Amino acid sequence: QCVLSCPVGALTEKETIDDVWKALADPTTHVVVQTAPSIQVTLGEAFGMPVGAKVTGKLVAALRRLGFDQVLATDFAADLTIVEEAYEFLGRYEEGRTPFFTSCCPAWIKLVEHYYPKYIPNLSTCKSPMAMFGALTRAHYHKERGLPPEKVVSVAVMPCTAKKYEAARPEHGDGTRPDVDYVLTTRELVRMIREAGIDFSRLPDESFDSAFGEATGAGAIFGATGGVMEATLRTTSWVLSRAANPLSFVDAPPPPVEFREIRGETGLKLHHVKLGDHDIHVAVAHGTGNARRVIEALEAGEKIDFIEVMACPGGCVGGGGQPILGGRDHKKTSLDYRHNRADALYDIDSHKSLRYSHENPTVRRLYREILGQPGSELAKKLLHTHGYQSKGKYPGYSPLESSGCIAGK
Ligand code: SF4
Repeated sequence: QCVLSCPVGALTEKETIDDVWKALADPTTHVVVQTAPSIQVTLGEAFGMPVGAKVTGKLVAALRRLGFDQVLATDFAADLTIVEEAYEFLGRYEEGRTPFFTSCCPAWIKLVEHYYPKYIPNLSTCKSPMAMFGALTRAHYHKERGLPPEKVVSVAVMPCTAKKYEAARPEHGDGTRPDVDYVLTTRELVRMIREAGIDFSRLPDESFDSAFGEATGAGAIFGATGGVMEATLRTTSWVLSRAANPLSFVDAPPPPVEFREIRGETGLKLHHVKLGDHDIHVAVAHGTGNARRVIEALEAGEKIDFIEVMACPGGCVGGGGQPILGGRDHKKTSLDYRHNRADALYDIDSHKSLRYSHENPTVRRLYREILGQPGSELAKKLLHTHGYQSKGKYPGYSPLESSGCIAGK
C-alpha cells in the first residue's frame, strides 16, 4: 500500500498511458479528461517554458489534439468541494466536534488511516475534487449527452501517483467500475504529447469545454499549500456573515477574500483567524514530517479547529508526478520552483472576477437542479465517502442566496 500512496512517486509509478491511448483510439468510446489546478502552471516547464508559466490554453489545445472528446477543469469540482467542506466544517464546529481535517490529499488520508486511526472520524468526509468530478461524470454526464454510460471513459491528469491509488479505492465507484477510469501524472501527459509529435510551445491557446462550466479563483489555489484552507475560509466567512446578519447581509461589507497569513512555504503554520465573532484556530502543514508535528501538537493539547495537510512539499505544485523540480538548472532550488508555481496559481486567482466557491454559477445550478443543499442525501451519496456528521444550523443558509460578495464589487 505504501508504494501506491507514496506522495513523491519515488518508489514506482504505475503507468496508464497505454490504456489511455487505447481508449482514445476506440471510435465507440467518448473520453472525458479533467485536469487538476496545478497542471496549468507546471506542464510548460517540460517544454522549455519558464517555471510557473501559465499554459492553461496550450494544455487544453494539447489534450484536444491527443483526441480527448471533452477537456474539463477539475477546478470546478474544487469549488464544489469547498462548498460541501465549508458547511461540513461549520456544522461540526458548532457542535464542538473539532479538529476537522481536510481530505483532498490521498497520501494524508493514508497516513491517518495507517498511523493515527483514532483521528479517522476527524477527517472530512468530502471526496477530493478529482473524485467528486468523477462521480458527477459517471452519474450525470452521459445523461446530458445521450450516451450509453458504459461508453464514457473518465481520465484525470493529476500531480501525483497517489491519485492513481485514490481512484482505485472502493468508495470511488460502484463496485464494478471506478468513477475515474485512468489517472495520468503530469509527466505521463508530457510523454503522450511528445509521442504524438505535438509542438507544445507553438500550440494556440484554447478554452476548456463547458460541460461543468467555469471555476472561481478559489478553485485554482487548491494546488498550493494553504489553498484549500483559504478557499474554505472564504465561503465559511460568507456563511457566518449571512448567519449573523440575515436581513442586512446584502448591504454588509463583503467578507474577506484573501487570508495571506496562511500562504507560503513555512512547513507548519498555526494561526487564529477571526471570522465575525468566531476565533477559529487553524493549522496548515505540508510534507509528512509536518503532518506528524500537527498530530503531536494535538496530542500535546493544542486547540486546533481546522487543519489542512498536503503530503507533498509546497502542496500539489510540488507533487511527485510533476516535472522534476529544477531539471538541469542547478542555480535554482526546489523551493524557488515551488514558489514560482504557487505564485502563478495565486495570480490566476487574483485576476478572476469570481473568487468565492459558492459564487460559482455552475455550482449554484447544480444545487438548484440536482443536489438541493450542501450535505443533502444526494450530496452525501455522490460527493462524500461515509460517516457524514454535520448536523449544525448552518446548512440552513443556502449557497443559492444572493451574497453580494462578488470580488471586485
Ligand atoms: Fe498528491 Fe497533492 Fe497530496 Fe502530493 S499534496 S500526494 S500531489 S494530492
